[in-house]
Amino acid sequence: MFPTLTPAQVKRIAAHGKQRSIRPGEVIIEAGARVVPFFVITAGRVEVIRPSGSTETLVAVHGPGQFTGEVNMLSGRPALVRSRASEAGEAIELDREQLLALVQTDSELSELIMRAFILRRVELIAHGLGNVVLIGSNHCAGTLRVKEFLTRNGHPYSYIDLDRDADVQDLLDRFHITAADVPVLICRGEVVLRNPTNQQIAGCLGFNEAIDQTQIRDVVIVGAGPAGLAAAVYAASEGLNVLVLETNSPGGQAGSSSEIENYLGFPTGISGQALAGRAYTQARKFGAQVIIATGAKRLVCDRKPYAVEMDDNMRVLARTIIIATGAEYRAPTIENLSEFKGVGVYYGATFMEAQLCRGEEVAVVGGGNSAGQAAVFLAQTAKRVHMLVRSKGLAESMSRYLIRRIEQNPAIVLRTNTEIVALEGGNHLERVRWRDDQAGSIETHDIRHVFVMTGAVPSTDWLRGCVALEAKGFIKTGPDLSQDDLAAAHWPPARAPHLLETSLPGVFAVGDVRSGNIKRVASAVGEGSIAISFVHQVLSE
Ligand SMILES: Cc1cc2nc3c(=O)[nH]c(=O)nc-3n(C[C@H](O)[C@H](O)[C@H](O)COP(=O)(O)OP(=O)(O)OC[C@H]3O[C@@H](n4cnc5c(N)ncnc54)[C@H](O)[C@@H]3O)c2cc1C
Repeated sequence: MFPTLTPAQVKRIAAHGKQRSIRPGEVIIEAGARVVPFFVITAGRVEVIRPSGSTETLVAVHGPGQFTGEVNMLSGRPALVRSRASEAGEAIELDREQLLALVQTDSELSELIMRAFILRRVELIAHGLGNVVLIGSNHCAGTLRVKEFLTRNGHPYSYIDLDRDADVQDLLDRFHITAADVPVLICRGEVVLRNPTNQQIAGCLGFNEAIDQTQIRDVVIVGAGPAGLAAAVYAASEGLNVLVLETNSPGGQAGSSSEIENYLGFPTGISGQALAGRAYTQARKFGAQVIIATGAKRLVCDRKPYAVEMDDNMRVLARTIIIATGAEYRAPTIENLSEFKGVGVYYGATFMEAQLCRGEEVAVVGGGNSAGQAAVFLAQTAKRVHMLVRSKGLAESMSRYLIRRIEQNPAIVLRTNTEIVALEGGNHLERVRWRDDQAGSIETHDIRHVFVMTGAVPSTDWLRGCVALEAKGFIKTGPDLSQDDLAAAHWPPARAPHLLETSLPGVFAVGDVRSGNIKRVASAVGEGSIAISFVHQVLSE
């Protein structure tokens, strides 16, 4: 976390910045500042402090040869901590652009600085040393949503549970904060947000830089799942002007996976969250602009440059577009399913959800790989996992290694030919009724947590007639486009569509949203990366 650079490394950094002196007591980085320089201390000491009201917590001390900063330095978000000289000293100062130039050209320093930044962020998260306090309840779906949003954006926060801390409830009553206002988020120690939207949180914490709507981007990427982030890394590293739009948080479906074990290069597995966090930092390191909690609402495809419209009447102009909007879980048809979303019904199984149902019985619905993975993961902490599968077995839909783990795990009960028919409860799910089609019986179980992992539908509503889709709504590309598709789209170029190109020239589809895609992280990443070579070809036409 706090490496000491060699004199040769310090000299290489000095070539990118300027030497300056530091006065004792001087604040060289203020918490919350948007413009955050990078310092290598060459003499003296600098304390890293987390301010909270009138109190301060000492987080670290940098001495000669050590450097300031953490992940926000690369992502361009406001500083989380204050850095103050405890004695007179000297430092080399680089602004963000100079630091980006350094990490893009010097691979040894890039690895060293990136590793320290990521480890420092992990430490801040582990100790809840952020600038956010979340006050919520585990019986409130909004609390889970906000926790998920902060966690998936790698933002450290402290949590106060209203169900356990009665004093805080009194305080909220005194400020006329009602149950409908929960969760409450105290942002930067200054702003109190009542049941905020993800967009409000992103705004308050400065996740996004302002969008220049007059600029025409080389490529706008819609969706920051594995496919979109891979496209962003390749496009930005190859010098293109890139903007990424993401409705929610980076990571997409993969971000809701507890452990991805079949992605090349991670023999012990990696959580979707960790993979997404690294990919986001990597894309930012190469200069891609990534806008969080702001999705594409409409594609304007009848003129060039194309325009992507967003909330608040914002729009961005693009020479080429990569659609990487993936897919969302299809909800089974159970009448009151949506009422229990976040309070008993979940669409992802990560550490956060696992904590909510520790020691309890849970049900996982679905027979695919994601359902299998969720069952194996939850079985580590839950009392029992009922796996409800509509078909007569798992063999056709699940990888062999997962089937074996499920069969060998005494905490998992596989129930084939079984479907949920009713959910019951008040503010939280209390009971589940399911039908065993083979036995012809209906059973009721006191289960308070159901994980729905039942196949996905493509996120293509926002495209409204711009590109050819197949019957289920997935986007057709390259050789899959028939002569009729191209004629209907008035395909103008003399050439045939490139691989991954839709029926709209210069607009590509990658990952789960693309018809024929193999629904895996590796194929999403592969397609996102490959698409950039076609983007170059279209830009040069
Ligand atoms: C629980 C779970 C476990 C999994 N485990 C594995 C595994 O172990 N191994 C494996 O290979 N695969 C696994 N998968 C599958 C894998 O995660 C997907 O194949 C992969 O995430 C697809 O990537 P993608 O980028 O194409 O789409 P997605 O991951 O779906 O990402 C799409 C992104 O686009 C965003 N978006 C949607 N609409 C808009 C819009 N209008 N504007 C802006 N943004 C938008 C979404 O919010 C999302 O972030 C798992 C999936 C799940 C759900």
